[in-house]
Amino acid sequence: MTVIQNKIAIIGGGPAGLSAAIYTSRAGLQPVVFAGSPPGGQLMLTSEVENFPGYQTILGSELVTTLRKQAGAFGAEIVDENITSVKFSKKHTVTTAKKIYSLRSVIIATGAQALWLGLDSETRLRGKGVSACATCDGFFFRDKKVAVVGGGDSAMEEAQTLTKFAKKVIIIHRRDSFRASKIMQDRVLNNPKTEVIWNASVTEILGEQKVEGVMLKIQNPKSTIQKLEVDGVFVAIGHKPDTAIFDGKIQLDEKGYILTSATKAIAIVKLLNGIKVADIEKQFNNVTGEQWNMSYQTMTSVPGIFAAGDCVDHTYRQAGTAAGMGIAAALDAEKWLEEVSQ
Ligand code: NAP
Repeated sequence: MTVIQNKIAIIGGGPAGLSAAIYTSRAGLQPVVFAGSPPGGQLMLTSEVENFPGYQTILGSELVTTLRKQAGAFGAEIVDENITSVKFSKKHTVTTAKKIYSLRSVIIATGAQALWLGLDSETRLRGKGVSACATCDGFFFRDKKVAVVGGGDSAMEEAQTLTKFAKKVIIIHRRDSFRASKIMQDRVLNNPKTEVIWNASVTEILGEQKVEGVMLKIQNPKSTIQKLEVDGVFVAIGHKPDTAIFDGKIQLDEKGYILTSATKAIAIVKLLNGIKVADIEKQFNNVTGEQWNMSYQTMTSVPGIFAAGDCVDHTYRQAGTAAGMGIAAALDAEKWLEEVSQ
């Protein structure tokens, strides 16, 4: 296979990866961007985006096209292929079906995917009333009746966001108690706009062109089938970062999110109960033999490998925050490359 030498590669073609591409290409680093196949990330599954700074409204796919054009104009090479393997050592390699790239630095921005219920009707009605992001799509349900599926903090947050728009928010949960933190549960349960249907699972989402309702199987205590009329269904049963290919290559947390210096620092501080990160970095590395460098917040456990966007962040998960993290990773990579070449 052909081996191509490049200074830096970016893995991921969503807002984090493309923002990193704009910055690194503008800095003259000529990045190669593996945008995936199909490219574009979660934005390609959204219709209107109304909260990306600079655009009052733009289609998710158009936003991706615009970011690609901007990165391309500064010299980024965008390859719409998936990577098949990575090797991170002193010289890093990223392999696609056709080529091997030998690199000094890599920015990982592979994103995450919302988990779905797995119903055919859910797939068919995605973007037509079925969503996994209340911040993105809640606005379209002003004075409507919507359902939220799930019982964790995400479901509570989605429900709380939706109460700002919808006239009624019905949480459908498969058990008789929530997994969510008490404070978030209380906030939702005390909101007069919310209602909970316990011990219920969605067996089908109804509607042809748009969501008209859901069929529920309720175990209370006997099993009954019930139809519930709603205009929208928000599925909030968790997210999965796209990081499987990096397992064993860089440190991931227990849910598969990539640990960067910033997230590792939080974990260390939690563990050591308040001792200053700067003071313990050296000591920690000495004791563990690891190579964390807290000066670069987006650096992973391997020097020269950085990560940004939804593959790192399970808190904010916005196109805008992903773009910002991509920029931070680009600036870190640029600075690090300068430092190691001295
Ligand atoms: P989660 O804690 O894993 O909760 C997922 C929920 O979905 C659970 O209630 C689960 O039910 C339900 N569920 C899973 N699969 C299902 C299925 N196939 N059908 C129906 N229901 C299903 O995920 P999350 O709520 O996304 O939270 C992930 C992490 O992020 C958590 O650590 C959370 O604390 C954190 N988070 C924090 C905030 C915040 O503090 N602002 C906001 C969002 C998320 P069971 O309970 O029966 O398993």
